[in-house]
Amino acid sequence: MKIFFLISLLLFAKLSFADEFPNFFGCFCEGGLITGKIKSGDELKIDGKKMEVFENGEFIFAFGRKFKNKIDVDYNGKFKIFDVKKKKYKIERISGLPQKKVEPAEEDIKRIIKDKKRINLSKEIGKKEKLFDDEFILPVDGRLSGVFGSQRILNSKPKRPHFGIDIAQKEGSPILAPSSGIVKLVDFDMFFTGNTIIVDHGLGLISIFAHLKDIYVKEGQKVSIGQKIGSVGKTGRATGPHLHWGIYLKNKPVDPLSMTKSRFY
Ligand SMILES: [Zn+2]
Repeated sequence: MKIFFLISLLLFAKLSFADEFPNFFGCFCEGGLITGKIKSGDELKIDGKKMEVFENGEFIFAFGRKFKNKIDVDYNGKFKIFDVKKKKYKIERISGLPQKKVEPAEEDIKRIIKDKKRINLSKEIGKKEKLFDDEFILPVDGRLSGVFGSQRILNSKPKRPHFGIDIAQKEGSPILAPSSGIVKLVDFDMFFTGNTIIVDHGLGLISIFAHLKDIYVKEGQKVSIGQKIGSVGKTGRATGPHLHWGIYLKNKPVDPLSMTKSRFY
């Protein structure tokens, strides 16, 4: 009788443990990123879509710039609904501009397409292990001169939203890796982003650093959080020295400030 009781207790403990939801880390918000770990054999669906689970049970999900205010999570057949915080984005409308200020010149289009292809290629999944740290640091300290998600509408034409943050700082100021990873791309002359670095943080997460003056790393090089990778500049299409820092999970943009315990918050 005692043994029977013990067995049923163990069985109950195991069942209730299996029913528990995994811990989610990150921001349930537009621009946010969620990570967590599940056991092998477990199944996790987010909004009905089966999540890819990496080698050691790691999963990762990004909301993108626009998302509905709720999300369904299905863990081994158990459902839970989570709230997703909406964000208000700054929309700026400017009309009456000369058309050449709105559209790129014919001769620049080839370069723009070539750069875009290289950047998109870098967004494809690289390292299938988590290289990034749970909390990111700011790559440079300075004035926040551009926020994630803002958009300009020029002569009634909506431009691509700003998928990153801008930090204004003196030219030549050091830029530190906000999280560990492997350098995936180094380019010294991109049309929009100028001297550019892309770092692969693993699991499909990348950082892009634009408008740099100097670059101190090479493609394929491992970088650790806090390591100097370049310096602030105004190369490419930039009106003054600043760092543009963007984060993407594959094609989904992530608000870099949602990854840091930032003084900007
Ligand atoms: Zn920017």
